[in-house]
Amino acid sequence: MLYMLSTLSLSFAPQLVSRPCTSSSCVTMMAGESYLSKVPMGPPDAILGIAQDFVASTAPGKVNVAIGAYRDAEGKPWVLPSVRAAEAKLLERGVNKEYAGIVGLPGFLEVAMRFAYGADCAALDEGRIAATQTLSGTGACRIAGEFYKRYLPEGTAVYLPDPTWGNHVAIMQEAGLEVKRYRYCDRKTCGLDCAGLLDDIAKAPDGSIFLLHACAHNPTGVDPSEAQWDEISAAILKKGHHVLLDCAYQGFASGDAEKDAFAIRKFLKDGHSLLLAQSFAKNFGLYGERVGSLSVACKDKEECGRVLSQIKRIIRPMYSSPPIHGALIVNEVLSDEALSKQYYKECTQMADRILKMRSLLREAIEAQGSEHNWERITDQIGMFAFTGMTGKMCDELTAEHNIFLTRDGRISLAGINAKNEP
Ligand code: PMP
Repeated sequence: MLYMLSTLSLSFAPQLVSRPCTSSSCVTMMAGESYLSKVPMGPPDAILGIAQDFVASTAPGKVNVAIGAYRDAEGKPWVLPSVRAAEAKLLERGVNKEYAGIVGLPGFLEVAMRFAYGADCAALDEGRIAATQTLSGTGACRIAGEFYKRYLPEGTAVYLPDPTWGNHVAIMQEAGLEVKRYRYCDRKTCGLDCAGLLDDIAKAPDGSIFLLHACAHNPTGVDPSEAQWDEISAAILKKGHHVLLDCAYQGFASGDAEKDAFAIRKFLKDGHSLLLAQSFAKNFGLYGERVGSLSVACKDKEECGRVLSQIKRIIRPMYSSPPIHGALIVNEVLSDEALSKQYYKECTQMADRILKMRSLLREAIEAQGSEHNWERITDQIGMFAFTGMTGKMCDELTAEHNIFLTRDGRISLAGINAKNEP
């Protein structure tokens, strides 16, 4: 791996995009033929397919740096002790398993919104944030896409950063939106291409949708500075664009969930047409519980009621209502002062271990005598390091060194520990 990194040419792999064939026209049948015999084999998912390959591999010392899931210093999944304590309290109280309402549990939504927008958020006090529980961040983005498709003028395109989390493209296409890209990452430095981003905001037709990662951009780990967020916000306001903030890593970027909420709170304050997709998968380690939210900043309470009524109409025929266990846990943790304090410490602990792995990886590569500037590994934040390796180099790493990573050169730092560090 070190060899690959140190001989790296700074070219970028193409975007991870897998587009399933959804049109019924892709199946042509003869009379009497089973339609299932004509269903084509789909490609493996660009990220989850690699996880399957990792599990199937029998190579000793195999390393999984493909998946964005936290691992402890022993390489094991970690259930936060505050989450375990909350579960114990729920069991003790004997909570029932009744359905939640269409938009989920009100207690969860209250704490989730305060977590994102701030304990003292005036818009929440005014009751003008329309919020629904969702199937984690993915579900939030999907409902957001559907909402935009129904209520923005026909032909409104969604602009995604280049690069972005691979699933964003498919999510927005499945919602029926045209997907366009805006420049995000400087190809030479792996830093933010702020001038390119601002230029693309200015050139997009007025009233377009811009999806921005609220913090810890996936896959680059490159976030705008506070001054750059100011510029981005002003440029978007000038064009009357709509903003979807995708927040999958609050707390993971800096270790401080309050600090990582900077862009969310700023965009609300600046008065944007704003939707927020929130996930509790990473920061609470509740991956499989599928707990998240979608919220919409409205003008007033009356508008909020109308918006929420339409969000309910999207959700009801799709999955009726969300799962409750993860939402009960988040509610239990964040509404209990002692558990909440404990949780914030544990979140910092995860972020700190990842920061340590960044330094370790950089030191190890530099110790090999690489001529490249590897500051990017320690400059980037969040779960991932964006190395700039090509797809071919990534394939070689997997085939020859049993290191499993996505083909865009992204490495999950959470998969590294002192034992498997290269
Ligand atoms: N947005 C981004 C940017 C992500 O990286 C992820 C997870 N990889 C998600 C959304 C959604 O994750 P989940 O559905 O597990 O909350």
